[in-house]
Amino acid sequence: MVYLDFAANTPVDDEVLDTFIEATKKYIANPNSSHILGQEAKNEIDRCSKVIANYFNTDKENIIYTSGATESNNLVLKGIAERNKDKGNHIIISTVEHSSIIAPCNYLSSLGYDVSVIGLNSNGQIDLEELKNTINDKTILVSICSVDSEVGTFQPINEIGKIVKEYPNCVFHTDATQAIGKIELDYSNVDFITFAPHKFYGLNGTGVLVNKNNIKLVPLIHGGKSTTIYRSGTPVTANIIALEKAFTKAISNLNTREIYTKKINNMLKEELEKYDFIHINSTNNCINTTLNISIVEKNTKNILKELENNNIFVSTKAACTMEGMPSKSVLAITNNQELASNTIRISFSHNTTEEEIKYFLNKFIEITSGN
Ligand code: PLP
Repeated sequence: MVYLDFAANTPVDDEVLDTFIEATKKYIANPNSSHILGQEAKNEIDRCSKVIANYFNTDKENIIYTSGATESNNLVLKGIAERNKDKGNHIIISTVEHSSIIAPCNYLSSLGYDVSVIGLNSNGQIDLEELKNTINDKTILVSICSVDSEVGTFQPINEIGKIVKEYPNCVFHTDATQAIGKIELDYSNVDFITFAPHKFYGLNGTGVLVNKNNIKLVPLIHGGKSTTIYRSGTPVTANIIALEKAFTKAISNLNTREIYTKKINNMLKEELEKYDFIHINSTNNCINTTLNISIVEKNTKNILKELENNNIFVSTKAACTMEGMPSKSVLAITNNQELASNTIRISFSHNTTEEEIKYFLNKFIEITSGN
């Protein structure tokens, strides 16, 4: 099998899984219990929160554990909107946000909030001038992804943060789900950061919202006391310990991983560029592990099916996007409906071998030449 859909989900790392199993057996108590067993679990959670908090230059109390990036995104968008409705009703997002940003924004629009969508420059990055012209005294939240899930473009997060800082009623959130473990960005001017470990060899069903500056927001899930007032429910000690393990591994090995994935990226690009019917959408402002291409005048659906028949798994775009819709990221960059409607996202990892890429390329060219 050749799996090239790592942007959608990664397999769990063996060490992370072993850590999870060990922690599940070891920490049997509720970390909110006051007895010693509860306190031992709580201490482990605190240790993990400190590791994550140190990376983002904040305190451990500001790490909010959720069920995934979708919940983190919903929490920050709805939580900030509701908490600040007396200050303003304007929210800014970008044209390349994940559906877990767009859907809560549509919901907020139905409640009367005004949502502006910022476009991209031809390099795939946010148009900072448009942002400057759109943000105003009624803007309470700007939410721009760190890396988009379809093309892999990284955004000028620090510059965006500086623009937002000029507006004291406004906070800046970034959905860094496609960035953590793949690229190091400067989060110093960001207030909230979303990510989930199933994108970097951790477990599914866990996510994080970093509330860097301990900003007040209305919880999505109300209930009893937990690690934070912003997310109730018994903290899942083993999930958090496994998350920290995956996070530490991804962060500490990032440079080595980047050198290798750049080589794989170049290998793919150099071969695919030779064919006139292939258009490469990912630019130099993209993470190494995602290569988005469009197939001109070919049947993309058939190509994917035939790849699957050969045990090769890629995707057309982000797994959560509606079928049949053109890729909004590619449309934003190319302004070309045909290219945006015929995309293939090849996403790989530091564990992808050169042999796997060669097998993919051979089969891909063979299949596309016949379709
Ligand atoms: N945000 C981005 C940028 C993503 O790529 C994804 C998953 O594909 C999500 C959010 C949703 O993540 P989760 O499945 O953890 O809710």
